[in-house]
Amino acid sequence: MHETTCDVAVLGGAFSGAATALLIKRRHPAARVVIVEKAEVFDRKVGESTTEVSSCFLTRVLGLTQHLGHEQLAKQGLRFWFARSADEAFDECVEIGGKNNSRLPGFQVDRAKLDEHVLRLACDAGCELWRPAKVSRVDVEAKTIEVSVGEEKRILQAKWIVDATGRVALLARQLGHFRPNTEHPINSLWARFRGVKDWDGYELRSKYPRWAEATRAGRTWATNHLMGYGWWCWIIPLQGGDTSVGLVYDSRLFQPPEGATIAERLKAHFAKHPVGREMLSEIEAVEGDQRAYSALAYHSEKIAADGWVCVGDAAGFIDPFYSSGLDFCAFTSSGAAVLICRSLDGEDVRAAADDFNTRFQFCYRAWFEGIYRDKYFYMGDAELMAVAFLLDIANYHLGPVRQVFSDPACMFEAFPFDGTPGKVVRCILRFFNQRLVALAQRRRAAGVYGQRNAGWRLLVGGFLPDGTSVRLLLRGLSWWLRAEWRDLFLRVPAQPAPAIAPLTDTSPR
Ligand SMILES: Cc1cc2nc3c(=O)[nH]c(=O)nc-3n(C[C@H](O)[C@H](O)[C@H](O)COP(=O)(O)OP(=O)(O)OC[C@H]3O[C@@H](n4cnc5c(N)ncnc54)[C@H](O)[C@@H]3O)c2cc1C
Repeated sequence: MHETTCDVAVLGGAFSGAATALLIKRRHPAARVVIVEKAEVFDRKVGESTTEVSSCFLTRVLGLTQHLGHEQLAKQGLRFWFARSADEAFDECVEIGGKNNSRLPGFQVDRAKLDEHVLRLACDAGCELWRPAKVSRVDVEAKTIEVSVGEEKRILQAKWIVDATGRVALLARQLGHFRPNTEHPINSLWARFRGVKDWDGYELRSKYPRWAEATRAGRTWATNHLMGYGWWCWIIPLQGGDTSVGLVYDSRLFQPPEGATIAERLKAHFAKHPVGREMLSEIEAVEGDQRAYSALAYHSEKIAADGWVCVGDAAGFIDPFYSSGLDFCAFTSSGAAVLICRSLDGEDVRAAADDFNTRFQFCYRAWFEGIYRDKYFYMGDAELMAVAFLLDIANYHLGPVRQVFSDPACMFEAFPFDGTPGKVVRCILRFFNQRLVALAQRRRAAGVYGQRNAGWRLLVGGFLPDGTSVRLLLRGLSWWLRAEWRDLFLRVPAQPAPAIAPLTDTSPR
């Protein structure tokens, strides 16, 4: 059997694997880094909308501005659409989003192109690529990896093993560290479509002039979201004209319609939301580009030890809402690269690996509890989501966004929620999130959930990592107090509302 030794073996050559390999090679040019990638070419996957944090990583750490400008699309923030009922008028639907285009960079990325580009940069920097090559077994004690390259079996002996196999989470599963997040039972269906209407085009501008003039921002390049009780949909434009459209739902609250194909099921669902009906009525699915995943949320109980580390989705995943997947890839890849380079320099990094692991576990839990836990209970109520939008996004800008922009070269090594301030912020965010869940449940029980999902817009000037976000945070608090005030006058029957909602229900009970 063919046997090769190297300093670092990276299992999986997509975004997290290629980025980690590239960072190691830049810091430690002498290191021999071998990347093992199963796919002969990357396909389009999810993870197409970047945040301010992941965009900072892409532009200021990896240095991809040219690629992003020429090959991908500039993203114009987030936009959320709510309806009181399925037959609401399109221009009466509540809109939450930006009044202006974004001031910090963001991108809508075709992952097949992005991942190929980062992998090419890693190879140009001197990494060795085995592809198509599948890792079949890893022995972390002996630091050996069995790889199939076509019919040939190879053994790779490495000082460090980086697991970047995504949801396959090879090491977590093999070592018994894989933990599904059963408190967060979310699932997703998605496809790419042609024929989504142009949000800023002549047809809609002439049909709904008041609607068109409501914002100075381009709606087309935003990540648009349709919202409902227990579910949300993303609409992400891609360079070249296709649009990625997907549905994420909490199976405790919602089940998508049945249908012969994923695209048919999605279309049946969109037809029940007034904005979906208007924008997506003429769509056609791109052949062979439809997927479904269940049980999206999970994490690995241990992501690092002396000699191995997990990065990106191989370490864990919480929820695609707000698009923080690539943020986690950026933080874990940066931290792993530093850990490995220190070890290659001769330092004993056992304590550092333990610390990396402890901080990741805290961050995962804090992010989950502070932002996502039971959020699907209030996703269909525009007023409660307006509170969440203002508080979540303002906090994000004052926390992680400010952190990484303050020193992009170093601050990706720290996880959000690190240290004592992180513990305090976790408690505050958790309180507000759970309060919104409680308010939503009481609104459902009283039959007024989503009752104000028509006739208004919340369009904000834009979030920045400075005093602007402090003002938006205060605005979020005032919206929250108003929701609490309204709650005082609710007539809630003694019996709680049934947990399971009718199919594709966007309306109040
Ligand atoms: C529905 C949904 C929507 C999402 N939307 C967003 C979004 O808008 N924005 C965002 O930032 N994130 C989003 N995410 C998260 C994002 O998709 C992931 O965080 C990201 O793709 C993870 O990248 P990765 O490189 O860690 O893993 P992957 O991209 O999964 O790459 C893993 C690689 O490992 C290779 N591999 C696997 N097994 C082996 C093996 N045995 N041998 C060799 N190679 C192997 C695979 O071929 C693959 O290339 C979304 C996730 C979901 C589920």
